[in-house]
Amino acid sequence: MYDFVEMSLMDDSPPANHLSGPYLPEAADCMRCGLCVGSCPTYRIFQSQEETPRSRVRTLSKILLENQAISASERLHLDNCLQCRACEPVCPSKMAYSVLFDQAQAQLAKKTNRLAKLALALVTNKAWRARLLPGLALLVKSGLPSMLRHSGLLQALHLTEAAALLRVPALKPLAPHYPSTRKKCGQVALFIGCISEHFDRDTLQAAIALLTAIGYDVLIPSAQACCGAIHQHNGFSAAAMITNNIEVFNGLDVNAVVHCATGCGAMLSEYQTDNTEASELFKSRLHDVHEFLLAHWPDDLQLQVLPEKIAVHEPCSQRNVLKNQQAVYSLLAKIPAASVTALPDNALCCGAGGSYLLTHPDNARQLRDLKQHALKTASADRVVSGNFVCAAFLNADKGDIVHPLHILARQLPTQ
Ligand code: SF4
Ligand code: SF4
Repeated sequence: MYDFVEMSLMDDSPPANHLSGPYLPEAADCMRCGLCVGSCPTYRIFQSQEETPRSRVRTLSKILLENQAISASERLHLDNCLQCRACEPVCPSKMAYSVLFDQAQAQLAKKTNRLAKLALALVTNKAWRARLLPGLALLVKSGLPSMLRHSGLLQALHLTEAAALLRVPALKPLAPHYPSTRKKCGQVALFIGCISEHFDRDTLQAAIALLTAIGYDVLIPSAQACCGAIHQHNGFSAAAMITNNIEVFNGLDVNAVVHCATGCGAMLSEYQTDNTEASELFKSRLHDVHEFLLAHWPDDLQLQVLPEKIAVHEPCSQRNVLKNQQAVYSLLAKIPAASVTALPDNALCCGAGGSYLLTHPDNARQLRDLKQHALKTASADRVVSGNFVCAAFLNADKGDIVHPLHILARQLPTQ
């Protein structure tokens, strides 16, 4: 299996999902029609032509097709992209914007310093995490996030929003096997990736409670790796992680591989390698947790009543890539007396954008302000989001947005 300690910090080969696969339009296929402009969150906040997908596709064409140097201003506007992919579904040329963006990043990232590469390696290196997390847990418990917020240090380092992600990590690993709590129908493997086991444990526990309650054993293979999204979107190769995950999950005798985080799910659903047979097998068994629960929900499993209005935030990775947000509404509708509604302005990115809240905190905050206006107008009792980073970012001002699975698991009948 892939050993993270051996992950090469100099692995600059192109992102693996470009090795093979169907024909994708090139940047030169852009018709300049501008239909994508209104969908772009950076156009919404800057109201400038340079901050549109159309303009960025022109820059991508220069990098990828014309081998031209780009100006500092073009680089700035390209970097302002949140990679939300809201421009893709509206494009009549079916522009594979994210693929072009990742390819360009892979070229531009060759200039990236070793410190950035080291930070990425740290995120995905299990052994380093095991050494560092106990210390982090102590620091967070001692009030570090609030001290950092008030010290001005985060502002000085342009990391103001980093505190939103700091929470006490869960240190004990999840068990490798959770048995079904009713008559067994089969078994699934749960994708937990890199950090959700430590920082989004409640969601994984809710997923386990629900999957076992519908009659499935849950396996959690410890050899699984980060999905690779953060690497690929920052211009580094995710090939080793992709190959590892395909090998680990294809080797299991399970009915499905289930993911709970929309960002990871989007990346997993687009895995491609030169071994087409293996990647197709992997994707054929891959399911979003909401879709899987909905498809296999037993007729006799009744949730407890919850007479509340629940608003659903649709993360970009779910809305623009997985395109399965309807499953969240249908699943929540199983809660008797609950009223489930969409959060207003759901098409607009909340600003979190994976690591965007750290790299572009000012832009991210402007988008969050718009989303917080939507949260107020929704006047819901609860708001849910299938993306941990979006929820953490929107919760920075003491919000209580949770993953939909938290609410569903709480409404399971008591034994
Ligand atoms: S919608 Fe597509 S074809 Fe039209 S300008 Fe945007 S990227 Fe180009
Ligand atoms: S991915 Fe999002 S931010 Fe980037 S150009 Fe497309 S719509 Fe704009």
